[in-house]
This record gives sequence, C-alpha cells and structure tokens, in this order.
Amino acid sequence: MPKPGFKSITVSESVYNRFQDAYQKSQEDLSRKGVKSFSGYVSYMLEEQMLKDETFARHAPMIKKVSVESDCIILRDNVHNRIVEVSVHNNELYCQRCEQKDCVHVGFAFSMPDVYDMLSSRGITKPK
Ligand SMILES: [Zn+2]
Repeated sequence: MPKPGFKSITVSESVYNRFQDAYQKSQEDLSRKGVKSFSGYVSYMLEEQMLKDETFARHAPMIKKVSVESDCIILRDNVHNRIVEVSVHNNELYCQRCEQKDCVHVGFAFSMPDVYDMLSSRGITKPK
C-alpha cells in the first residue's frame, strides 16, 4: 500500500523497464532538476506531458487531420466546428465543403507530410 497522499498504478513490465532505463541514463541530469527517485521521475514525465497537452489544447490548431485515405482526406475545421472532406479527384485535391480546389483546407492537406508523400507518389503536386 502506498503511503498517505500517494496512489499506486500498475504498468506493464515493458513500460516500467523503458522508464527505468531512461531514468538510469539521465539520473545525474534529473538529480540536478530535483528529481531524486524513480517515482519522482515518472511523476515528472507525466507532469511534463500534461503541460504539453494543455499548451497544445490552448493553441489548438484551426485545422486538424482526422484521417488520410488514398482518395480522401478528412480534416476537422475547428473554426467552423465541423468535419471537412478533401477528396482526390482527377489528380487534384477538391474540398467538398468549400467546393473548390484552392481553399484553406486544400492548402492544409498539402502541408501534411503524409498527404504530400501520398500525393507526390501519384504525381500530384500543389497547384501554383
Ligand atoms: Zn475548404
């Protein structure tokens, strides 16, 4: 049983070992940051991640990728609070929402590395 003010969680051995490994490797560095124990290290990592998530949530991108298929890219438009479908049609991207080939969603789709790779492997390039 953990001492008062503490809770315990169970993680898989592989997760534990990965953290333990990383902890051992940067123990000196961490100790300078005030992290003196393995559980302190795990708490520190969780806290860091949480902060990152919160920062990310505060600066939520206006458009987010939902999924990328070979002929259809699904985006979430956080400005208009809706899902936008950009389809690959006749070797061009076409936004179903704006009904055009050159809108912010098409631009965003081209800016995603996986979409860009998928398109350029099919010989599709961004219109000028
Ligand atoms: Zn659009």
